[in-house]
Amino acid sequence: MNQPLRLVALETSPPAFSTEAAANMAREIFGVHGTAHPLYGERDQNFRIKTTSGSGIILKILGPNEDPGSVEFQSAALAHIAMMAPTLPVPCVRRTVNSEAYTRITDERGIPHIIRALDFQPGRVMDGVEPSPDLLRHAGGTLARLNLALANFFHPAAGQRIVWDLRRIIDLRPSAGLIEDVETRKLIEAVLDRFIAFLPEMSRLRHQMVHNDLHPGNMLVDEAATQITGLLDFGDMIHAPLVFDVAVTAAETVGDMPPIEYGSEIVAGYNAVMPLQGAEFPALFEAIIARHALAATIHAWRRHNDPAGAEKLGALSALSVPAIEAYLTAGRGAVVAKFRAAAAARPGATNLAERRFHALGRGLELSYAEPVHLVRGEGVFLYAPDGTRYLDAYNNVPSVGHGNRKVAAAIARQMETLCTNTRYLHEGIVEYAERLTATLPDGLDTCLFVNSGSEANDAAYRIAKIVTGKTGAIVMEHAYHGVTDVVAALSPYYGPFVQPQAPFVQTLPSPDTGAAPAEAARRAIAALQESGHGVAMLLIDSAFVSNGIVNVPQGWFAAVAEEVRKAGGLVVGDEVQSGFGRMGDEFWGFAMHGVVPDVVTMGKPMANGHPTGAVVARRELLDAFTSRIDFFSTFGGNPVSAAAALATLDELQTRNLQDNARTTGAKLREEIRGLNHPVIGEVRGSGLMVGVQVTDAATAKGIANAMRRNRVLIGTEGPAGNVLKIRPPLPFGAAHVEIFVEALRASLP
Ligand code: PMP
Repeated sequence: MNQPLRLVALETSPPAFSTEAAANMAREIFGVHGTAHPLYGERDQNFRIKTTSGSGIILKILGPNEDPGSVEFQSAALAHIAMMAPTLPVPCVRRTVNSEAYTRITDERGIPHIIRALDFQPGRVMDGVEPSPDLLRHAGGTLARLNLALANFFHPAAGQRIVWDLRRIIDLRPSAGLIEDVETRKLIEAVLDRFIAFLPEMSRLRHQMVHNDLHPGNMLVDEAATQITGLLDFGDMIHAPLVFDVAVTAAETVGDMPPIEYGSEIVAGYNAVMPLQGAEFPALFEAIIARHALAATIHAWRRHNDPAGAEKLGALSALSVPAIEAYLTAGRGAVVAKFRAAAAARPGATNLAERRFHALGRGLELSYAEPVHLVRGEGVFLYAPDGTRYLDAYNNVPSVGHGNRKVAAAIARQMETLCTNTRYLHEGIVEYAERLTATLPDGLDTCLFVNSGSEANDAAYRIAKIVTGKTGAIVMEHAYHGVTDVVAALSPYYGPFVQPQAPFVQTLPSPDTGAAPAEAARRAIAALQESGHGVAMLLIDSAFVSNGIVNVPQGWFAAVAEEVRKAGGLVVGDEVQSGFGRMGDEFWGFAMHGVVPDVVTMGKPMANGHPTGAVVARRELLDAFTSRIDFFSTFGGNPVSAAAALATLDELQTRNLQDNARTTGAKLREEIRGLNHPVIGEVRGSGLMVGVQVTDAATAKGIANAMRRNRVLIGTEGPAGNVLKIRPPLPFGAAHVEIFVEALRASLP
């Protein structure tokens, strides 16, 4: 049904409250005491309320016909953007003293108006600034980031019928007759008609929520005018072709600079963040000239019906005719070629890998034959710039889910409040240490905070050396424990060609070789004693990940631990992989083996991606260490890390994610076995730490690459490289197992 368009913007002027009334309302409704200063608004009456401290608010009084649904829509959109892209500078809704997003007031004629407020965003409005190419590229990139943040947002009011929706040109078309100058009228009418004819093409393009009004009056810039520092006015948002947003900004930010050249900079900046699709280039041309024609039409209507309201639009529509002429003179083909060239010359998705090679060097390996470019994560899913969704069955760091809101909010809140270090008293880190040790066996009660698993292992080795007075270490063959110089020496994973075995290191054969554990341990101990190193520690990853997530006979680890303790060494459990509930049956991996280590190291999932690591040890061990060495890590255990780790632990515990790991992991292994495929051998592991043995390394790599093409991310592992490594974020559920197994079925040779 085609209901008639209510020309909201055209029917009414903004309300006309006095500045005094505005200051009073700010005080009474929002609890903000300050002076009121009127600002321009096409539909709303806006005031800046300046306060003596803080930056104050923008008070917005809406016209009588405005729909509360659209206000709720804006609040929801702003909250969504803040969640998806916390660094985008969008306004924050200021709630009333009663905690409402808006309320109603009546004017002196008894007409009700919605009143609401936003935190004032300091900065210089871009309007009036001569735009540089750099600034325009930044504006384009910022718009693209905004679009990405809005990509998965919807609200019923997004269908609002507003005059600035280019698709409404059909309804506005008669108003072009009000343009007095005959030549101008003909030109504008021709553009409007051409756009109406183009609408079927438009409707085939990708649609999503667009801002639809990102012109210089709605952007703030930094002092040097090279960066966008604020985005304003979300009142014209609609669900529409994405290209509308690029068109509005490309049309209206160029001022009186050459419109196509400067418009190209917007396209370049946009495309670097979010590549435009082929059919969007010609559509962009049409939408840019249509936006100019629409502005000229609305201006004519206002001149005719509401001369006061027309004034502000005059400046814009004065630029419309020359811009349209420039575009039409160049012709669509030439403009499209120029836009495409601008997009290609700038870093788009395709040459991001090349830029990465230059910036980060060629040695840093990328996963998969076709690298994955990601811009966003949510739960167990990851998203590419074009919206392609990947099921993440690989990343164990975001254990309580990608983009976890509780963790993100805890980090943001704490960062705004205080971020210092452990040399000061702070509740956060003490509370976290208490909560963490409560999950560990009695005796493992004292914590040392660092920033990564490597640092934790490095510190554990220092503790072991100080406490025992010895230097020798026993690790698994093919173990991986991290990147510092000494921890790399404790990581035979690198292989003898990269790094010959250090004299203070002895290795144990993988449990799946069948070697008797106590004997293997005694042999390693004897070798260390013979070489004069003695035994400082045994370091073991309870998930045996780099050994290929192997099956470990019950009692294997305990037998080794016993021998090491007899020789005076400490038992260090590396829980970087196996800690925090992933193994399902137990919260800590060592508990699966019936061992209680003397020292435990942790990292990766501890704060869901915020870099945080820890060593937990018996009090006397840590005291012996810290009384000899003034160990202090600048970032380790800072209030933000503590808040992130605490929120992560809360999520793990309140959502019973260990339980989920146990049941989902069992189902996953069972279904993989159920595929009964000849290349699949043992399906191993525990909880959501799963290893699938396949024929050989080439087969494993082939399956991982095919899975990636089928939009599921996994890795490969093991000394022979023939194990599929599957360790998804812990909210992985039964539905995700189905997606996984279907993709695996399709990816097997
Ligand atoms: N220990 C184990 C068992 C690991 O798997 C890793 C990382 N893969 C580390 C330690 C090192 O942790 P990080 O990379 O955080 O330094």
